[in-house]
Amino acid sequence: MKEVAHGIDVYYGNKGENQNIVVFSNNSQMIYKTGDMLLELLDPKVIYMLNQKVTNMIKYFPEYKMELDYESLKNGFMWLCGTIEEDDAPVATELFQSTFSKVIKSVADQGGIYSSVGDFLETCNEEYQLEVAEYVFFAGAIAMKNSDMASEIEKKAYDMFSSLSAERELLCSSKRRYINGTASRRKVYKITDFWDLLNMEVGRLDKERKKIKICENCGKIFVPVGRSDTIYCGLTSPQRVDKKCYEIGAQMKRKRLRSESGDEHEYHNTTCKLYNMVRRMKEKNDPEDLINWYKKHIEIEVQKYTEKRKGVSK
Ligand SMILES: [Zn+2]
Repeated sequence: MKEVAHGIDVYYGNKGENQNIVVFSNNSQMIYKTGDMLLELLDPKVIYMLNQKVTNMIKYFPEYKMELDYESLKNGFMWLCGTIEEDDAPVATELFQSTFSKVIKSVADQGGIYSSVGDFLETCNEEYQLEVAEYVFFAGAIAMKNSDMASEIEKKAYDMFSSLSAERELLCSSKRRYINGTASRRKVYKITDFWDLLNMEVGRLDKERKKIKICENCGKIFVPVGRSDTIYCGLTSPQRVDKKCYEIGAQMKRKRLRSESGDEHEYHNTTCKLYNMVRRMKEKNDPEDLINWYKKHIEIEVQKYTEKRKGVSK
């Protein structure tokens, strides 16, 4: 069997631009913002491709029943590479190839007996699926922890991730590059499986003071741009196609709370009434003093409500 597929090389672009330059095995290059490779791998469509589709395609392999040898295994691997492929998910496509070929090598080294090449691929798939499940689980746990939504298990997984990452250092080399006529060395990361990618991306996000989080409106994993305390993503919201989660997330949350809590309902009614009164008074050109008195009253209501909510969350 051919050596382990190449995977991707990643190096950082110019400092301050937060860009990663990804070099694929055919030497083509793409620029990814930090976190975007990870988000590509966590897209539900991509997870399906890396998970269920692999299992299905092994079953459909036309030479499934052929005897296991170099030729049939090569054909089997080529069959998978030809189907587990997505133009808009090049990192996932490449990492499938390198991860699966790594697993083939490891299973072959264990030297078991297999009735057919399909049988062998099924065994590889069992091991490979663990790797997929691992990165999906850990990425989810990290995002939940960063969003203060983690369960006990996820909190433990988060701590485990840190120690595992430290244990398994990323393979790096440095390349000489010439920038403005002077030579400088640039660190190049070799990413050959999902764990490498998770490791690199989370570490790199950390350096840039960014985090992967769970959107409080749609539940998808995202990386906040700008303020890291943002709780809503910038994707199309599930409620309205013309609005992004960060545009209507807060409104949807209020709506949810209103239907859940009487307090919120009462607060909403009172303030709405007061705001309407102020509007009408302005229309009638009522005295400024009176309008201001009502405005003050609204402020007090808002404050009272905020205090109440604080008390509830304590
Ligand atoms: Zn969202």
